[in-house]
Amino acid sequence: MTTAIDYLSEVERYSAHNYHPLPIVLERGEGAWVWDVDGKKYLDCLAAYSAVNQGHRHPAIVGAAKAQLDRITLTSRAFHNDQMGPFLRELCELTGYERALPMNAGAEAVETAIKAVRRWGYRVKGIPANQAEIVVCRDNFHGRTTTIVSFSSDPLYQADFGPFTPGFTLIPFGDLTALERAITPHTAAFLVEPIQCEGGVLIPPAGYLAKAYALCRQHNVLFVADEIQTGLGRTGKLFASEWEDVRPDVTIIGKALSGGVYPVSAMLADRAVMDVFEPGSHGSTFGGNPLAAAIARAALRVLVDEDLPARAQELGSWFLGALKQIPSPHVKDVRGRGLMVGVEIKKASGPARPFCEELARRGILCKETHDQVIRFAPPLVVEREALEWVIGEAREVLA
Ligand SMILES: *Cc1c(COP(=O)(O)O)cnc(C)c1O
Repeated sequence: MTTAIDYLSEVERYSAHNYHPLPIVLERGEGAWVWDVDGKKYLDCLAAYSAVNQGHRHPAIVGAAKAQLDRITLTSRAFHNDQMGPFLRELCELTGYERALPMNAGAEAVETAIKAVRRWGYRVKGIPANQAEIVVCRDNFHGRTTTIVSFSSDPLYQADFGPFTPGFTLIPFGDLTALERAITPHTAAFLVEPIQCEGGVLIPPAGYLAKAYALCRQHNVLFVADEIQTGLGRTGKLFASEWEDVRPDVTIIGKALSGGVYPVSAMLADRAVMDVFEPGSHGSTFGGNPLAAAIARAALRVLVDEDLPARAQELGSWFLGALKQIPSPHVKDVRGRGLMVGVEIKKASGPARPFCEELARRGILCKETHDQVIRFAPPLVVEREALEWVIGEAREVLA
């Protein structure tokens, strides 16, 4: 019989060593729960970095996928298909943007936005050729392509991957003075995560997004929100930018856009920005394929029908409050919005990873982020009783 150890050693032997996962081998998931190959049940408090907001194998999404598998899966954009148009219309109606450009991975949608805002900078704003600048924040996470890691501030993401793509200015996250100083006549866009999730669930000071947006308006700079992790209900609203009534010029989504069934991402914008693309200027073989479109349509319907943003808000604010009340000599800070919650462990207590390992032993799957932070981000369909149980276990683990 193949055991967990066999699966782990296969990966050790045959995989690139570009991850350091917890040694848990999963074989099945349903809703907020997953099971490993030994039959042990866990509550999934990572939700694949918020890609499974709708829960594992949501029946409506899996049903849509199965139905589409029996029709057609890939046409390429050389032809039309009968799913992409309805998908983009429904996506635009839900989000209030005029246009959407479908891609696959989140990083591809970020790359798409970078190309769009640079072109907008040259063709609309009038920036001289090849001089466009994009302002970004320290501790950002926008993906792993060569251009995207070019503006990471994390040495782990960059070491020996140069030469890097120029044209990015790094400023501290949450610092409006730095933003104002960084903007020049050549600035095309400000690219920001409304909450830096990978950075350690870092929430900017109140008013930051709204004021940053106003600064962008004032200087004719596009405000681009990377909502790949914060978007689609996670923080208690459809988009985290809504917490400060900001409607970004460009919003980037991915992850939960497919409910974890298939990679689907998109760049959202109005015509003034999106129409910088003409045929041939950008594309993707799989982007907008009918299987992806059918799955994403179902995933969006689930978000709306089950009112998952409201659920995240209600459960999240209760959960955050309960976590804050746990007495612990190890906890430096507890913060969050909706069901994106971080527990920061004091440096003196060591890294967060052993706490995650102990939680996993007790059947709660979390993954540390940036060494010191335990992130709790379960599927938004999680039951309140499950979270009550998490609080009880966390109380003992953090004691
Ligand atoms: C996950 C993530 C990405 C990259 O998405 P991939 O699908 O892994 O390429 C980009 N930005 C943010 C904020 C993310 O959380």
